[in-house]
Amino acid sequence: MKEIEGYVIKTEDFADKDKILTIFTKEHGVLGVVALGVKKQESKNKFGTQLFAKSSFEIFKSNLNRLSKLKKAHLIKNNFKISESYFNYVLATIVSNVTIAFFQPNEKSFEYYRLLDWIITKLDNNQFPLKNFAIYLFRALKFNNSTWDLYHCVKCEKKLNNAIYFKIDEYGVLCEEDYISLRNKDGIITDPEFIETLKEINSKPVGELDNISLNIEQAILIINILLEYYESILGVWSPAFKELKSQSFM
Ligand SMILES: [Zn+2]
Repeated sequence: MKEIEGYVIKTEDFADKDKILTIFTKEHGVLGVVALGVKKQESKNKFGTQLFAKSSFEIFKSNLNRLSKLKKAHLIKNNFKISESYFNYVLATIVSNVTIAFFQPNEKSFEYYRLLDWIITKLDNNQFPLKNFAIYLFRALKFNNSTWDLYHCVKCEKKLNNAIYFKIDEYGVLCEEDYISLRNKDGIITDPEFIETLKEINSKPVGELDNISLNIEQAILIINILLEYYESILGVWSPAFKELKSQSFM
């Protein structure tokens, strides 16, 4: 038996009293766990198995991709404030969806665990949720090997250390010549600072993501471009994506 720290990122009802949990753990990545009896009022594991809870789980870990079995869930932090704000709940749901889409069962990443820990804490504290969600959504791409190349022209592949032009519909940067030869310059962000910020999000240690400066307009712009990228290029989508897109300020 193992004791494992992790986050509950999905819960499904199973039989009358049971749940199937998907947890992202520090040491083992994504695990599917059967939690017997947790829907009973008197269950001691009730609190540690709620959605977005951070807990220390005692688990009978199965090999292969079968479901493991939960023995105990010791609550570390309930993160229940996320559910008190509908908007933050939608953002946290997208974080869960992305985690499940990007990681196979038992595929581990300690760095991603730190990123997950960081964003869930920010959303629970209602601390700059849009800014921090934008940072999360871009940084997460690294773990799926689908981050944007901001160092080579998307047309001619020329190396660009300080790109200025970002082409929204191709999720990449343009060299001066290719920018000039573009007949239609709609959908180009001409802002070296925007590109530098994206590079920073990709390269800073998770513990320093707080130092990134991003105003609300930039955050919304990045989120909008990323939602389109996740949906149309990566095929990652859920009702929560639609819910976020339908917000008036988006
Ligand atoms: Zn070029």
